[in-house]
Amino acid sequence: MAAAPPLLCFGVIADIQYADAEDGYDFGGCRRRYYRQSLGLLRDAVEAWAAERPPLAFVLQLGDSIDGLNARRGAAEAALERVLAVLGRLPVPVHHAWGNHELYNFSRARLARSGLSAAVARPPGRDCQACHCSPAGDCQAYHFSPAVRVRVVVLDAYDLSILGREPDSPRYQESLRLLREKNPNDNLNSPAGTPGLEEPQFVEFNGGFSQAQLDWFNEVLKFSDENQEKVVVMGHLPIHPDASDRVCLAWNYKDALSVIYSHRCVVCFLAGHLHDGGYCLDSHGVHHLTLEGVIETPPESNAFGTIYVYEDKMILKGRGRISDRVMHFRKW
Ligand code: ZN
Repeated sequence: MAAAPPLLCFGVIADIQYADAEDGYDFGGCRRRYYRQSLGLLRDAVEAWAAERPPLAFVLQLGDSIDGLNARRGAAEAALERVLAVLGRLPVPVHHAWGNHELYNFSRARLARSGLSAAVARPPGRDCQACHCSPAGDCQAYHFSPAVRVRVVVLDAYDLSILGREPDSPRYQESLRLLREKNPNDNLNSPAGTPGLEEPQFVEFNGGFSQAQLDWFNEVLKFSDENQEKVVVMGHLPIHPDASDRVCLAWNYKDALSVIYSHRCVVCFLAGHLHDGGYCLDSHGVHHLTLEGVIETPPESNAFGTIYVYEDKMILKGRGRISDRVMHFRKW
């Protein structure tokens, strides 16, 4: 008997960080960043995805699509245009998470009007009788159902953040208060504390989830539980310490995990941000996959993948630095 075809398949890619600039290095000075070449790797990914059979249903872009250094060169609009033009060759929707680098380049208000906005990719809310499409305010979280009994939730990991917000806005002030409470350093991008920060993820280049977003997330997962859906969640920042280093996690990752753990439906959490990637299967049977970043991938390699969703598992076909992986679902 022939094997059953997948319920659907979709593409994944993280941390493209394109800039029309010479190669550079990360903050530690040892990892090479291929700013200009990253667009070529994106082109190769798009070509490979377009040739996939069965065809992809959509692509998840996990954030940091263009690098922060564009902002300093007045090149943000042009860089984003180039990235979106390449992704625009795909005949399927691309769902975008916002990362710190989008917010170094643009305000949230500007991003909400850009091709990275939730409004561009989100299908009209037909299946949202039981819960709202998005939380209130300018939070970019939303969900959609690309196949029967499958749901994708896009989380906004910078809903609490001082990046991309006006300093006189209440959310900025609330986020700064929280950050200063946890991080005593003058340089809030530094996790080095005295005698060592207990929660080193409280740095300016990370962010967190507002209570309103967590409440909304909880309602979505309740609906999915009731309908026996399998839920794939994506956000720029990892939320499990075993799929990340201790610094690169979302500020209140524990709150997001406890929402997930109070339901049965989440099968996988996809993230970017940590360019080395990471993976764990947690004690509740949720797979946490942090994708290797395109920006630190040499031009002769690549870093993207295709995920095939079946009734009982997801299979990741990785390209270049991303390994193949089979992720079985726990039984209902
Ligand atoms: Zn990032």
